Amino acid sequence: MTRADVIIIGSGMGGSTLAATLAPSGRRILVVERGERLVPSPQDRDPKAIFGDGFFRPDETWLDGDDKSFNPGNYYCVGGNSKFYGAALIRYRREDFQPRPHMSGSSPGWPISYDELEIDYCAAEHLYEVRGTDSEDPTEPPHSIKYPHLPVADEPDVADLRKRLNQVGLTPSSVPLGVDIDRWLAAGQTTWDAFPNTCGGKMDAENSALAKALQYENVELLTGAQARKLIAAEDGSLMGVEVEGHGMLQAPLIVLSAGAVQSAALLLKSANETCPMGLANRSDQVGRNFMNHNCSAVLALHPLRRNRSIYQKTLMFNDYYNSDGNGGPPLGNIQMLGKITGPILASQTKLPGWIAKLIAERSFDFYAMSEDLPNPESRVTVEGGKIRLDWKRSNWEAHKELVARLKSHVRRAGFPVVLSRPFDRRTPSHQCGTARMGKNPTNSVVDIFCRSHDHRNLFVVDASVLPTSAAVNPALTIAALALRTGRHIIETEFAA
Ligand SMILES: Cc1cc2nc3c(=O)[nH]c(=O)nc-3n(C[C@H](O)[C@H](O)[C@H](O)COP(=O)(O)OP(=O)(O)OC[C@H]3O[C@@H](n4cnc5c(N)ncnc54)[C@H](O)[C@@H]3O)c2cc1C
Repeated sequence: MTRADVIIIGSGMGGSTLAATLAPSGRRILVVERGERLVPSPQDRDPKAIFGDGFFRPDETWLDGDDKSFNPGNYYCVGGNSKFYGAALIRYRREDFQPRPHMSGSSPGWPISYDELEIDYCAAEHLYEVRGTDSEDPTEPPHSIKYPHLPVADEPDVADLRKRLNQVGLTPSSVPLGVDIDRWLAAGQTTWDAFPNTCGGKMDAENSALAKALQYENVELLTGAQARKLIAAEDGSLMGVEVEGHGMLQAPLIVLSAGAVQSAALLLKSANETCPMGLANRSDQVGRNFMNHNCSAVLALHPLRRNRSIYQKTLMFNDYYNSDGNGGPPLGNIQMLGKITGPILASQTKLPGWIAKLIAERSFDFYAMSEDLPNPESRVTVEGGKIRLDWKRSNWEAHKELVARLKSHVRRAGFPVVLSRPFDRRTPSHQCGTARMGKNPTNSVVDIFCRSHDHRNLFVVDASVLPTSAAVNPALTIAALALRTGRHIIETEFAA
């Protein structure tokens, strides 16, 4: 493509969903992706390769807040992090869009309401073929269109767990999932959370959105093409993007969808004389308010009860999502992890293989998730060309309380042994917030349609723009925002 109408940087959840929305317009759309397409490999379903050897992890290091180098669990490939995701495609709750107090701080809410995004949530659920139901979870916000498919069924041992949780007063419900379970299992008997999707069994950004976009002749994908710098003219308009191996690519509209850490880093690296603090950064908010959820793995065991599940990730409960149960502040969401197996547990704990296997065969593995609150000092910066991620956790007390409640419930549900461990800080799976959306250009980076306040022809469409992390997985909300931005671009930029 010699000259595009739109350049989208990054083919993950935000970028690919936007490409699918813009494709029917006939405008020339160029998707510039740093990674390559994943192809099937023997490591795809090998837990030791994935969790022990970090086979798919990037050849890259970032610095943490103490200037210690680490290898982040951030994936660069066509489809981005969604190739590895757990495909839990959950809407933020209506309450998440409003300001509300938390145990240690407060959540500022959104500049748009749930109702303004609802129609885009429906479209995102259809694009990603979500399997779910809106009739089980009392916190599920209203749906104007039903889920396109019924939920993925519990495996027998998870169905038994669901009954047990019910009996101790909880309200288990089905996790909305973008997974074609038969197709996934036909390629290997493993769970899908953190496993790469090369069989098409997971609905990810590449096969659900980008594939649709690429059916149009006006859409092109450039892989192995890392954007290095955005180039702005003196009047503030974006002229193009410097791309490794391709020089300067130009388009009247540029969309940044490189993920919350990389999008912020690219804006900061693109500083020039007119914008010395980086592009889109008159507010000094680019890179700030980094959030990543407070998460723990909780393993519930009964020595005489086996868990024969393969994938396990079909059950969640939100009994403590909007309050602690006594009218106090929200604590968070609990859902099942993809099934932990012996090799996964051994690689994460250094337990001998046989002990890890013994435990994993008996454990039901929960994922407790609490809201991380925006804090301007929790931030991505770039130092000497290197990314520094100084994540300042917030609201940890609420998370501890959530884990304590979970442990107490599962003990009563018949599991005498309950172990827990917080997730590794170096895994920025739910990264967000670094180019926050807002109506006020002095304290936000993009407007309510994800357009930069400072540069009219620059949009940011990925997890960066989320003003809050809520306590549910982010991908569906990123997709819904991309669909909303796509409509806005068509109405305002392509109308002529
Ligand atoms: C193991 C794992 C499990 C997860 N499970 C879930 C889940 O169950 N549910 C859920 O909602 N979310 C889940 N997530 C999170 C979810 O995958 C992300 O929230 C989502 O993919 C973020 O979308 P994005 O568009 O912001 O970024 P990404 O999807 O990461 O896309 C960014 C893209 O930009 C590319 N890129 C980066 N820099 C450049 C550059 N300079 N030039 C060109 N291209 C560039 C990257 O290669 C990538 O393709 C999970 C994540 C992980 C890692």
